[in-house]
Amino acid sequence: AIPLVVAVSTGIGAQRGLLIRDRSAFERARDLDTVVFDKTGTLTEGRFGVTDILVFGDASETEVLRLAAAVERHSEHPIAAGVLRSAEDRGIDIPDATDFEAITGKGVHATVEGAEIRVLSPVAAETETDLPEHDAASLGEQGKTVVYVLRGDTPIGALALADVIRSESKEAIQTLHDLGIDVVMLTGDNERVANWVAAEIGVDRVIAEVLPDQKNDVIEELKASGRIVAMTGDGVNDAPALASADVGMAIGAGTDVAAETADIVLVDSDPRDAVNVIRLARSTYQKMV
Ligand code: ADP
Ligand code: MG
Repeated sequence: AIPLVVAVSTGIGAQRGLLIRDRSAFERARDLDTVVFDKTGTLTEGRFGVTDILVFGDASETEVLRLAAAVERHSEHPIAAGVLRSAEDRGIDIPDATDFEAITGKGVHATVEGAEIRVLSPVAAETETDLPEHDAASLGEQGKTVVYVLRGDTPIGALALADVIRSESKEAIQTLHDLGIDVVMLTGDNERVANWVAAEIGVDRVIAEVLPDQKNDVIEELKASGRIVAMTGDGVNDAPALASADVGMAIGAGTDVAAETADIVLVDSDPRDAVNVIRLARSTYQKMV
């Protein structure tokens, strides 16, 4: 009888936009008491637009955006799409880049017109160079993600990008709270941006500026403290955490790496489906306890 019940429920899951890749993980979803969400691309759409260009020294705004776009053209990160769109909107001719490399959770770099151009997170930029005085704090408080553009070791500017919070995120978090489930937001992005998003959607526990391995560490720590933990994410940077969570859930619109690592894919990219997984697992497996 067990396989039949499971087959029926995975059928229902598929109808509801849940792709269940690992049935035992789906069964464990019944017992979840903690759901961890990635921020960018998971609770937000990961659809960035450039809102501000800061210039340090003598490069123009166009030059900062042009060089950043040359590097970002080779990246899959949601920030990259935002930088490229903005450069294209301004009619900027984007030069070629070679030797592209992504450092997950930190940024990207490549050679452009003979110089090494790096586009880095605030934490990564600070460890690489001395940043000039400027108003990054107020940008972060408006929920904007800031990346720094370096030519060689010299910061030539910064880009502020605004993302869009998914309209379903607040309801998803509220419903989880109503079910007595703890919610944690985990992000590689800056603390101010993370706190701004968290306040908008009602998440009370935020862990920001974490690298991919540290996301995994957080999951392991929660598990070690006796919690049954789900991870929900979209990015390459979420894969280790998706793999070690009791239940790994990938956002359908996210990267292939996340979908292939997860136990369940939320096909419609709706964070409320993380709640539906728990409800469906509870109703499917209650008879068998
Ligand atoms: P999240 O955990 O919220 O999904 P990530 O770990 O993917 O965020 O990224 C963390 C930070 O690393 C970003 O906020 C950004 O500062 C930097 N970063 C990652 N990829 C890129 C990129 N392609 N261009 C610029 N910055 C990047
Ligand atoms: Mg993400």
